[in-house]
Amino acid sequence: MTAPAILPSVAGLRDAVSIWRAGGLPVALVPTMGALHEGHLALVHAARAHGGRTVVSLFVNPTQFAPGEDFALYPRDEADDLAKLAAAGVDAVFMPPTEAVYPPGFATTVTVDGVSAGLEGAARPHFFAGVATVVTKLLLQCLPDVALFGEKDYQQLIVVRRLVADLDIPCRIEAVPTVRAADGLALSSRNAYLSADERRIAPRLFQVLSGMAAALAGGAAAADQIADGTATLEAAGFTRIDYLAVCDAETLEAVDRVSGPARVLAAAWLGETRLIDNVPVSPAGRAG
Ligand code: AMP
Repeated sequence: MTAPAILPSVAGLRDAVSIWRAGGLPVALVPTMGALHEGHLALVHAARAHGGRTVVSLFVNPTQFAPGEDFALYPRDEADDLAKLAAAGVDAVFMPPTEAVYPPGFATTVTVDGVSAGLEGAARPHFFAGVATVVTKLLLQCLPDVALFGEKDYQQLIVVRRLVADLDIPCRIEAVPTVRAADGLALSSRNAYLSADERRIAPRLFQVLSGMAAALAGGAAAADQIADGTATLEAAGFTRIDYLAVCDAETLEAVDRVSGPARVLAAAWLGETRLIDNVPVSPAGRAG
């Protein structure tokens, strides 16, 4: 096991990438905010499957947190992250200091209309401008052949696909299915915030989404499913539901009844912790 190169600067990242590229090796990038778990490592494994070099970025991006959100508290464990990345066979870890990403005078924001408006965008209006800006920067800093994103953050994946297409960024975006705990809870760095009681309730979110997806695939009306699902989550102990929605899998527009690939998406709170999750709906006889 060779330790990954630690690259704190954009210049160092570009040097490493250009050497690999000159050697004919494809480069895969996995952007993360650290506090790594098996979900992140699934992205790393998918990246390594491309057979070239793998870069993981570790950067807790301040611009995607609103004042009062958990930026200061967001879990950080650099030593543990680096040990996991070394064990996973990553070639380089890009860990820029905040001032290298947002130097004094920084004044450019990438906004993506349409697909970023609803769901997370409605609940956290600052969020996607922060994500789109930092992802654009990371892609342009690294210029990877492929960048990998988790379906766990499904709307983010769609927003990234949109900006890459719109800005002609020469990089493929690859989606990796959500990695879950044995009881179905989607792995998330924020699960560390859950109390023991909340952790017991948390898998209900995936169960409700899965039940809705099965009913929708069978022809049930979205409005009925959303009403039932909301009631079930509230009865289970979820303290607030930011959204529970049935959307077209590409446009993210709400659908009344599923007739093509769709997604059930939710954000719900357990006390102070906000969980998001989503599942595909595959209408009978079609891939979803
Ligand atoms: P984050 O560090 O939370 O910003 O996540 C970095 C990347 O890992 C994003 O593309 C996420 O969608 C992905 N990711 C986070 N959790 C999971 C999971 N449980 N399964 C698959 N991918 C995940």
